[in-house]
Amino acid sequence: MIVGVVGSGLMGSGIAQATATAGHQTIVGDTVASQLEKAKASIAKSLARFVEKGKLTADQRTLTLSRLEFVTDLGKVAEADLIIEAVTEDLAVKNELWGKLDRRAGPATIFASNTSSLSIISMASTTGRSDRFVGLHFFNPVPLMPLVEVVRSVGTSQATVDWAFEFVRGIGKEPVAARDASGFIVNLLLVPYILDGIRALERGVASIADLDTAMRFGAGHPMGPLTLADFVGLDTLAKIGDIMFDEYRETRYAAPPLLRRMVTAGFYGRKSGRGFYDYRQDPPVPAELGV
Ligand code: NAD
Repeated sequence: MIVGVVGSGLMGSGIAQATATAGHQTIVGDTVASQLEKAKASIAKSLARFVEKGKLTADQRTLTLSRLEFVTDLGKVAEADLIIEAVTEDLAVKNELWGKLDRRAGPATIFASNTSSLSIISMASTTGRSDRFVGLHFFNPVPLMPLVEVVRSVGTSQATVDWAFEFVRGIGKEPVAARDASGFIVNLLLVPYILDGIRALERGVASIADLDTAMRFGAGHPMGPLTLADFVGLDTLAKIGDIMFDEYRETRYAAPPLLRRMVTAGFYGRKSGRGFYDYRQDPPVPAELGV
């Protein structure tokens, strides 16, 4: 099977790595050529780590890399049997893309969105294939995180849901069924928690480092909420919060002012080198944010 992945950022590169490792020819598309270069490098680095740890042989790494193709021509992605979209969390951007792909892809091609917070039907209904349109919500970092939420919209057929479950199991991930409600399962619970961490910092409850240390050693989390926010990407987190707030009208989903200020400043977290921590230093240090 040929898998197309559109958007080669944090998530798209991870998804492409997972599908190629599982044996699928994978075509990765992005409008920004430098993003494709970045994705190629990060996949090569991640596969090398798997080889170092003995989880992959050198031959498997070479084979995986040979299954990946990187393109700026989205017409090429439309040749796939399954297209997974992982572009910026913006409905207008996603729907413009889906319109193009719907016109070019064959009738049997299944469309899947990796959106964190938009409703699947708000994208599916702009295509002529809402029965073959499903949510496949992966988690960051995709090569390490086993969960995929399979999201069924009111228009998705049972056959597509069954197919999606098989596909997810086939790439070695753990599928769960989720309703098409903003945030699905994990983000419905996790996003307000991360935003509360940022609000606690705004209120001067504790320092960046102490907030994170407290949740690691007091709640047993593998990382604190501010480190996690930097991993998610602060631009993406703010967009997810806005979309969930629009849907539920509950303040716990609203992006706090500090988060907005940081996004305005271009502090997007790990991917831009600055967020709640400064990644230009190794090891990263808590950022000077003046709060
Ligand atoms: P990102 O900013 O790292 O990457 C987005 C990529 O999309 C960029 O490379 C950009 O050039 C590309 N892009 C934008 N418009 C495009 C278009 N029209 N055609 C082709 N490429 C285009 O974002 P991300 O964190 O990878 O998030 C992508 C999607 O995955 C979002 O819907 C997000 O909600 C979802 N998601 C994110 C996370 C996370 O932890 N960051 C987790 C699960 C799901």
